[in-house]
Amino acid sequence: MSKLSIRDLPLNDHRIFMRVDFNVPLDDGRVMDDTRIRETLPTIEYALRHGARLILASHLGRPKGKPNPKLSLKPVAERLRMLLDKELARGENVGFCPECVGLEAEEMAGKLEKGQTLLLENLRFHAEEEANDEKFSKQLAALAEYYVNDAFGTAHRAHASTVGITRFLHKSAAGLLMEKELAYLGKALQHPEHPFIAILGGAKVSDKIGVIQNLLNKVDCLLIGGGMAYTFLKAQGEHVGKSLVEADKVELARQLMHDAKARKVKFLLPVDHVVAEKIDVNALVHTVSGGHPIPANMMALDIGPQTVEAFSEEVARARTIVWNGPMGVFEVSPFSKGTFKIAHAIADNPGATSIVGGGDSVSAIRAAGVADKVTHISTGGGASLEFLEGKKLPGVEALTDKR
Ligand code: AMP
Repeated sequence: MSKLSIRDLPLNDHRIFMRVDFNVPLDDGRVMDDTRIRETLPTIEYALRHGARLILASHLGRPKGKPNPKLSLKPVAERLRMLLDKELARGENVGFCPECVGLEAEEMAGKLEKGQTLLLENLRFHAEEEANDEKFSKQLAALAEYYVNDAFGTAHRAHASTVGITRFLHKSAAGLLMEKELAYLGKALQHPEHPFIAILGGAKVSDKIGVIQNLLNKVDCLLIGGGMAYTFLKAQGEHVGKSLVEADKVELARQLMHDAKARKVKFLLPVDHVVAEKIDVNALVHTVSGGHPIPANMMALDIGPQTVEAFSEEVARARTIVWNGPMGVFEVSPFSKGTFKIAHAIADNPGATSIVGGGDSVSAIRAAGVADKVTHISTGGGASLEFLEGKKLPGVEALTDKR
């Protein structure tokens, strides 16, 4: 990696400002899922073991620039204390500051001792955070000497805590989780083992146009499922019934398929479909097989068995697999099979490097019970999409170059 890593920083006895992603689901002040806290634990523990005085900062939810007690990070500090290695979490070692800037924060950060952690209150209680405000960035920077970013999920946003602050601290480095994300995604895009396939799904073509365009220069095969497939099928002149179609993207879909052909990239669309009149667990479900039109009153809500087979064959042959977006409305059981079968197909190819990104495909791979069989699960939906589009992530660009 061309950017500094936390391993390159002099941590001992220094105050380190670490941007983490503690944007966890809360219910009445209880942390409902602590995956995000666990994922960044190795970086936190690394810093503490090396004697850092650690200041942690995160956003949580969308408080829209105003304090909101329901979106306080206080319960997260408690959960962090429980999750941290006992040795590191002893006594007063994990503190919480009810502000993220200002006198109280400066005082508490100043009193931190080696191996102690202070979690600051929700950064987004201040509108200046998302505005990447210079004064606010300086206030954050006043708390520490060095900066670490371990929040890949917000690296595509230029905010005060991801970009602004780095201008006012000595050095800025990637945390271990950030480093891992960049290593896997970077290798897939720059030096993939072939065959390299991308499986794209989800509702909208418009969200994935940039990804398709960038991946067309890199992959051997694109597999398109989910709602977005029907804009492509419409462009091929198929009858798609009431399936999701973005009318203003039909022409672009045609162009993308043309580009794929010109680049000799295999472009696979669903050949059969699970259809129903509505999205409902009790809906009457039919399978429309290859070559038959989808009835005018029906919508395609999952890929059918022939498609699963064709996609799985490509998955089995691949050496690098990137998956973003479900193959159908997997949240509703009659339409979840296609997505789960693709998840299993990926799990059944342990020889390939498989990278799954995007909130829905990550939930699907977990629900299918095969999350541990995937090489890398990306923690950042939006950030991983922008990375796959070939865009530079501001939160990564802002880190100090290695040389
Ligand atoms: P995205 O956020 O674009 O990745 O889309 C994910 C959403 O797409 C999920 O909530 C799915 O239920 C939905 N989805 C997937 N396939 C279809 C489909 N064939 N028709 C309608 N919605 C779909």
